[in-house]
Amino acid sequence: MVTNRVPEYLYRLGEFHPGRAVAFDDTIRAVDTPEALQARFPEALVRDLGSGSVLYPGFINAHVHLEFSANRATLRYGDFMEWLESVIEHRDELVDAADEETMAAACEEMLASGITAFGAISSFGADLAVCRRTPQRVVYFNELIGSNPAAADMLYGDFLRRVEESSESRPEERIVPAVAIHSPYATHPVLIRKALDLARLRNMPVSAHLLESSYEREWLEHGSGKFREFFLRFFKSAAPVSDIDHFLELFEGTPTLFVHCVHTTADERRRLADSGHSVAHCPRSNRLLGCGRLPIEEIRSPLALATDGYSSNWSMNLFDEMRAALMLHHRADPRILARRLLRCVTEDAATALKQEMGRIVPGAPADFAVVRLPHIPSRPEEIALHTILHTREAAETIIAGNSVRKS
Ligand SMILES: [Zn+2]
Repeated sequence: MVTNRVPEYLYRLGEFHPGRAVAFDDTIRAVDTPEALQARFPEALVRDLGSGSVLYPGFINAHVHLEFSANRATLRYGDFMEWLESVIEHRDELVDAADEETMAAACEEMLASGITAFGAISSFGADLAVCRRTPQRVVYFNELIGSNPAAADMLYGDFLRRVEESSESRPEERIVPAVAIHSPYATHPVLIRKALDLARLRNMPVSAHLLESSYEREWLEHGSGKFREFFLRFFKSAAPVSDIDHFLELFEGTPTLFVHCVHTTADERRRLADSGHSVAHCPRSNRLLGCGRLPIEEIRSPLALATDGYSSNWSMNLFDEMRAALMLHHRADPRILARRLLRCVTEDAATALKQEMGRIVPGAPADFAVVRLPHIPSRPEEIALHTILHTREAAETIIAGNSVRKS
């Protein structure tokens, strides 16, 4: 059955088109005027989405930690190292408290905000069952962490077991197995090389945290600062396992989604773009952990906007994230920034996750977020801005042609 939807505006390739409609079943068949589509698909059920509606590609949250969904006010905010120490202190209780119901509620919250796909960073594999059950598409990043080479075989074995488990998902579960390297400070290069070989062999997307805090930069460059105290205290070790240059070298030839990148230099940002890497930007997480502002105006890589997890945020809603980004990057023209932010949660996020989605083009999956604006903007070029300012929830979320949630 082909369904033909007629919104007031259609968001396509970064532009807003009035009077356009989409014909789709589980994938998008055609984009044209309603009249042309009706002539071409006379059997199609036609739905008029009504006044003030904008049809967007389904939104994509490229970086989220579901396993930390139980945190609300347990972890310490304000300073990255104090936060990290509180994570170590409370990790077991938080992970235990994040039962399937808690993680499913986070998925449902994402669905309500029009998120049809997300990148889940999985540290333990505890979120796999929930990711299989949720209607969204999930790029399932099995995370590899461990800086002690003596434990490398054991850690890699556990990682491989989780990769295999996520690879056994059924097609209707919409799981794409993927690889996450925790970070340059917490994952030994021996492990990184093995995991990247596997990712290339199986064509799996790759992600890694990079230079989230100034402490990370100080540790990787000089082996000093608060990370030194942290490693001595928790791991009895006093030397970084990698430096920034050698870490980035490992990823040459493997386009990767690097998360945060707040404390990269201009040269490093150029290098990320030249090497085909993408960047994930989590402004609320960065703000709460005292990490500072990513200069997005200097990012030439595809940029994805993401919520991170409840470990460093208060909602998994991308409209909240876009509003925060709009305020944080206060020197940018809000009208231009708003349009960029919408690309950061659609087509650029899809590029970052290496998935064919995030665009309303024939052949793409029929994933949509219907937004209903309470007031129709007088100037169409301000639709992006008013979408971000006035939307709390999507009016309807559609995945593979099926309406999965209406508000
Ligand atoms: Zn993260």
